[in-house]
Amino acid sequence: MLAAFAGFGLYMSSETISRASTSEKENTIENPLVAEWSGPFGGVPAFDKVKVADFKPALEEAMAEQLAEIDKIANNSEPPSFENTIAAMERAGSKMERVSTIYFIWSGNMKDAAFAAVEREMAPKFAALGDKITQNENLFKRIEAVYNSPEKQKLTSEQQRLVWVRYTNFVRAGARLNAEQKARLSQINQQLASLFTKFGQNLLKDENEQYVHLRSESELSGMSQSYKDAAASAAASKKVDGWIVSNTRSSVDPFLTYSERRDLREKVWKMFVNRGDGGGATDNNATITEILQLRAERAKMLGYQTHAHWRLENAMAKTPERAMELLEAVWTPVVERVKEEVRDMQALADKEGAKITIEPWDYRYYMEKVRKERYDLDANEVKQYLQLDKIRDAMFFVAGELFNFTFSPVKNVPVFHPDVTVWEVKDKTSGKHVGLWYFDPYARDGKRSGAWMNAYRSQERMDKPITTIVSNNSNFVKGKPGEPVLISWDDASTMFHEFGHALHGLSSDVTYPTLSGTNVARDYVEFPSQLLEHWLSTPQVLQKYAVHYQTGKPIPQSLVDKIEKSATFNQGFATTEYLSSALIDMKLHLAGSQLIDPDKFERETLASLGMPRELVMRHRTPQFAHAFGSDGYSAGYYSYLWSDVITADSFGAFTEGKGPYDKAVGKKLVKNIFSVGNTIDPAEAYRNFRGRDPKVEALMKKRGF
Ligand SMILES: [Zn+2]
Repeated sequence: MLAAFAGFGLYMSSETISRASTSEKENTIENPLVAEWSGPFGGVPAFDKVKVADFKPALEEAMAEQLAEIDKIANNSEPPSFENTIAAMERAGSKMERVSTIYFIWSGNMKDAAFAAVEREMAPKFAALGDKITQNENLFKRIEAVYNSPEKQKLTSEQQRLVWVRYTNFVRAGARLNAEQKARLSQINQQLASLFTKFGQNLLKDENEQYVHLRSESELSGMSQSYKDAAASAAASKKVDGWIVSNTRSSVDPFLTYSERRDLREKVWKMFVNRGDGGGATDNNATITEILQLRAERAKMLGYQTHAHWRLENAMAKTPERAMELLEAVWTPVVERVKEEVRDMQALADKEGAKITIEPWDYRYYMEKVRKERYDLDANEVKQYLQLDKIRDAMFFVAGELFNFTFSPVKNVPVFHPDVTVWEVKDKTSGKHVGLWYFDPYARDGKRSGAWMNAYRSQERMDKPITTIVSNNSNFVKGKPGEPVLISWDDASTMFHEFGHALHGLSSDVTYPTLSGTNVARDYVEFPSQLLEHWLSTPQVLQKYAVHYQTGKPIPQSLVDKIEKSATFNQGFATTEYLSSALIDMKLHLAGSQLIDPDKFERETLASLGMPRELVMRHRTPQFAHAFGSDGYSAGYYSYLWSDVITADSFGAFTEGKGPYDKAVGKKLVKNIFSVGNTIDPAEAYRNFRGRDPKVEALMKKRGF
């Protein structure tokens, strides 16, 4: 996961973000949050001075200042130029940048009741600020003038890219429409916002209110004690006797995997896949039809063939046709794999004398049995070789080999919690300062779940060199003092993933802040991070860093083999349930303005694709929140596979060379991918690295097809 700043993302997409180095010393009694960052390394966030009560006045002051700076640019009497318009926008809002960075760090890591109250009040103000800037007509006229000026050809390629990014973002938000169209657009956006809310609330209602009631212990046969306990307390909270299986994935998936009661598996499965599709008050079909109609109208008005074309224009894929090509290429072999998996499961069921034909509610149950029989992998055994501190050292080792970075702890930098450590990153050869990496590994109250990377400050050199500050955050449970924290293979892999995002930020070598670091297209941003995951299982890492917490002996190769072999298990199921959703998402948004009955569309499309009858879409249309809970991942569910194709293909550059530590390939990777941010079209950047476009073969191999 990248950049936890949900509000920040919104803020950036509204084109209001900028960093600058102008100094504001005129304030008399300064709120510490609005002050310039001071101290070592070109200034660091003053986490030791944060008071929640200071956030609101600091944000209000910074917002007003940013709007004033934008107005000054928009109303400049000089003719528009790159310098006085595009570069000036980069410099505007430096105070806002500083305050909002700390605000979003607090939101993710230190959220108490007082902060949550500030957040409820400030959230709509962030949105309004973005609108005020994109709807500033004088500002857009100036951006458009720079974009259309013949002078543009004389700019550097990075400057031309920046002009393009600014211009297209304004156009995509409707800046070129006439007044009547603008009014209709904002009407559509507001209608959509209500429909998204309705969709989400219907879904939540089905998930909260529906359940399968279990009245005797025998109905829970096969389930673990911890599952039974959770099911009992869920029942108690609904004031019913016994146990319940809630209508959520975290409750349903384990039941379908372990329950020995086939009749109940069927009942639970049917409840879950019909969320939002029950025909009553919470049915989402009509809402979806309306959302699709409005999206089609909006896309047309903005000058795009369909909603999918609008969404993909500034993604790496660029057109829905290219995304579809990938999805369809993977589809056929994956469906073949499902047939094999079903054959294996049927054979096992026959051997047990079950006298059944595998149905969708049997898939997870028999898959788990096949897995146990074939791999016999004990997760607890693996954990004893994975110590949090050693895995962190392993990441430093990889960064040293591939990026030529060193990491050393620093003490003179304020942190927001004593668990956070700060590391200075330097170039191994020159000793030159590269940036700072904050590491916050442990769970605490007020910290959101999961693992992520944040950029506290992005590298740039518009007026003077500014270095990167990034963080990695996760939620490990702190051990007793002096005892190592043991983590799972998946967790170790996630640490490498997040560290990949951090290295992407730290490697940045660009001029303009908007184009810096991880600020790249949605179907591209997970590629550098997914790539880093590959180094966890290299012998160099395993031999030295994956050592037993008591004996110090490296993890046995036989155990590593088991981990790697089981990695491709079950990929037929996982990839097909994902792909069918991605295909439906894209086809619905390519259908244009025709009136769509979602259930019928889904049924007919899946039939024409040859969807195996033994499984179902990961997100059926009436419950597909990626597509209908917001615009965010609409016509964008393909992105996960797209990034993974690039990841697998790029690792091939190493394996075709001297292996994962091939210095020449590493250098090329940093030069063309990790350091360029959004200064270049991602497809072109990739060709510069690989000498060609990504091919899908490596992914097929990685997933075992
Ligand atoms: Zn990520």
